[in-house]
Amino acid sequence: MTIEEPRFLIDISLHRLGRWLRAAGYDSIFAEQSDSEYYRLRQAINQGRLLLTRNPKFTELRSAPGTVILLESDSLEDCAEELCAHVSIDWEHNPFTRCTACNTELAESNEQHQYCPGCKQILWDGGHQTRMRDHLDNWHRKYTR
Ligand SMILES: [Zn+2]
Repeated sequence: MTIEEPRFLIDISLHRLGRWLRAAGYDSIFAEQSDSEYYRLRQAINQGRLLLTRNPKFTELRSAPGTVILLESDSLEDCAEELCAHVSIDWEHNPFTRCTACNTELAESNEQHQYCPGCKQILWDGGHQTRMRDHLDNWHRKYTR
């Protein structure tokens, strides 16, 4: 699967992976648990997003191929590896340009901290950002092709 800059609709069970995708700069929103499989699939198609899910029911839906990526691992690490086997992810794509809490694009970049106009909070301080960058670097070395 090759997509220039993939965007994602993510089941809430994969929220940790989703937050890392946001940290790397990818547009990633979470699906409402109450929405049916059909509704979520239609939302992904309409918005041009890849649907990341652990729910095997999706693969039975006719329009799933090309849109649904089924992740079967339990751990965050294994899910990241599995995702990268399906779609090319650059974990150093555009780091720290998007709020990890609400997906809003951040206008200003600051080494010390970043403020999100979407959820009105300061997101991370320098030390936290350094640790996050180490994590992204690690995934970049392992999984970015
Ligand atoms: Zn935010």
